[in-house]
Amino acid sequence: MKRLVVGIVSVAVLAFGLVPAQAATEYVASQKTLASFSAGATGLTALQRSQVKRAVEVNTFAEKFICTGIRYFEQSMSVNIMVRKRAKAACAYAKELNPELSTWYQSKPTQARSYAGKVLLTVKSPKGQAGTTRTLTAGYRYPSCDSEAQQNLTKLNREKWLIYDVDCATDRTSTTPALNQVIGSTPLAPCALTETSVDRTRYASGALTTGFPRSEAVTRWPDGEKNVLIVAFDWPDITDDISPNELLSGEASMFAEYMKTFTRGKVTLDVEIHPERITLLEPSASFSQSERQQNTSQWGAGNVNAVDYFYQEMIKASDAFVDYSDRDLVLFVPPRFEEVFAEFNLWPPGNGPYQTNEDPIVRAFTPGGGYHFRPGNSLWAFWVHESMHYFKLPDLYWNDQNSVKRTPFTFPGPMHGLDLMDGTYNRSLNSWLMWLAGWSLEGEQVCLTDTNFQDSSYELFPVSNNDQSLKAVMLKLSETELLIVESRRQTKFDHTPIRSQDGVLVYHVDTSIPHGEGAITAIAPAGRTLVSNRMGEGGFDTMLDTFLYEGNSLNMAGYNITVNKAYVGSDIVSISKDPDWTRGQEANYVCLTKKNRVMNDPNRENCAILAGAR
Ligand SMILES: [Zn+2]
Repeated sequence: MKRLVVGIVSVAVLAFGLVPAQAATEYVASQKTLASFSAGATGLTALQRSQVKRAVEVNTFAEKFICTGIRYFEQSMSVNIMVRKRAKAACAYAKELNPELSTWYQSKPTQARSYAGKVLLTVKSPKGQAGTTRTLTAGYRYPSCDSEAQQNLTKLNREKWLIYDVDCATDRTSTTPALNQVIGSTPLAPCALTETSVDRTRYASGALTTGFPRSEAVTRWPDGEKNVLIVAFDWPDITDDISPNELLSGEASMFAEYMKTFTRGKVTLDVEIHPERITLLEPSASFSQSERQQNTSQWGAGNVNAVDYFYQEMIKASDAFVDYSDRDLVLFVPPRFEEVFAEFNLWPPGNGPYQTNEDPIVRAFTPGGGYHFRPGNSLWAFWVHESMHYFKLPDLYWNDQNSVKRTPFTFPGPMHGLDLMDGTYNRSLNSWLMWLAGWSLEGEQVCLTDTNFQDSSYELFPVSNNDQSLKAVMLKLSETELLIVESRRQTKFDHTPIRSQDGVLVYHVDTSIPHGEGAITAIAPAGRTLVSNRMGEGGFDTMLDTFLYEGNSLNMAGYNITVNKAYVGSDIVSISKDPDWTRGQEANYVCLTKKNRVMNDPNRENCAILAGAR
């Protein structure tokens, strides 16, 4: 049982008089001295006001704000009154900025001359929340095209596919008041669903997994600091003229920054770019690999030999110039726009290590230049996606529909355009996989079961925030199924879509389903459709119109999930239970599953993915 109570929750708890047994909150204090006051002054200067404001803003989960006016111990009581007034002014301003703060001012003597006449701020936040920020009052700014009325989509983009165009980035609706916030921290163990998929059994510990137990495969890349080397290369007959640093330094820093953010600092990258391009010794024709070969027969002899040949030739051409000592990952980058091969990726243990003059190359990605340098794409996002497989995270797209295997009339994957592990349109990593990988921080999730469920609201912060604020509510439905409610806001890692992905995302996790077959499925409210969404410069892509904006709600498995308020940096969401709901009731939500993904299938079911649950 987690002992700590999330800051915002304990405020609500006190207000509503429901004090839980474990409410003894531990605090962490941060201190800051305000700039000096001029002789006799008791009001705050602009600089001092900005210092108080900063202390409030960087400690927005703070509960106690103490202002201490300090006098030199030999000074008179009149000085005592003056420094007390200074302290009072500082605390009054802090209270004005955040009325939820409990403020207290006082005066104290000191023997340290440098503190004489100054004001010391002491800010106490619940342990685990210190230094984390949130936007207190700024509401999310919806575009003027978005009224409080529901705006059903009417412009068919492609009739055959039932895809609609959107007129407005969002579709908020009129709001209802939030429920009382009565749930604080919960044990997470009941939500650690056991994976029962056939893949888990078939591939044992080597499998890419969606459920617990966490992978303990020897090939699971351990967390920690990784040395990454990037080497750009040419063929004698296909060359690129851009310098490796010019082409790749931005990609390298985004790669490192992404990994640090979404692993919550548990995986950090030290990336080095080899400054010169390396020229392979053999012509490009010797390296050809068809996309079909790469996608449908990755472990066939033809493809394994092509991968093997590439790495041996690469080492032959580069070993004299490149230092391969102590590299955890090597990223080779071909000339942009080459179409010789699709990808040459090294997967231990599928491919063995390749010996160099220094240490062997064990992990490496070599993307196809033509595909990965297409407009709107980013090489770093490919590096991240593939690296996540080294941590045993699964693909969320239909892996039997990858590129050339695609059959006509198949709807997009169950998380299409919503997650890094679906592809690289949206670059967020969902909180379930972050938790499964062992990266989430304490306080980022709550787990609700039949026994501890209570109707409650939550303030959810975007999964991209690398801090201990609450990110996800998990609603356990069965031993292999749960619903997750999480918040998203666009970050520097994401494209700017036409249909906004700033909102609340609800998805269903089913750990009886294997990697690449729909173990994680986005759930949209009743009435939503597929929309044509622009994701970067790369053009339009089709995805389910999934996000809940302010006022929107969704019903599934007897739960009602409603967004009561959207702030710039958080969402207030209420979750309640419908006592009249019974299992087997007709689905009142929309999703894409393996059972309903074929558009022209006459037996296509509604989105009934709760067949076995509850
Ligand atoms: Zn993948």
